[in-house]
Amino acid sequence: MKNRDLIEQAAQLLKPHRTSAGRLFGDVGAMVVSGSGAVYPGVCVDTPSWGLCAERSALATMVTHGEYRIRQVVAVWRNDETGQLHVLPPCGVCREFMRQLDDANLDAEIILDTDRTAILRDLIPHHEWPRPLDL
Ligand SMILES: [Zn+2]
Repeated sequence: MKNRDLIEQAAQLLKPHRTSAGRLFGDVGAMVVSGSGAVYPGVCVDTPSWGLCAERSALATMVTHGEYRIRQVVAVWRNDETGQLHVLPPCGVCREFMRQLDDANLDAEIILDTDRTAILRDLIPHHEWPRPLDL
């Protein structure tokens, strides 16, 4: 799927909601294209006890549908002050989460802009299990 199409779909998910405690939900939206080509949405849910990124929210929906392989991932956030939309690279936890769902996800395409992508393995260097030491 084209980067711009996924970015626009993720932007449609943005419905920021501020809780009475000042936490923001739904201000980041993500779309995941699975190995089968299905597209799964997710938004961030930033509770004080456990913050869930939009990417992991979308990935949990994918897993709920019995899928573990990822083709593409994108997450977006809109700056309320400027109105500008930004593509956010996945945080370290999300990168590792994607890898742990299936090692083949190291080849997943991470959308970084309308015309720029990265492969997950390039975003998590030194992910291989370490060799045993001679100590
Ligand atoms: Zn994350």
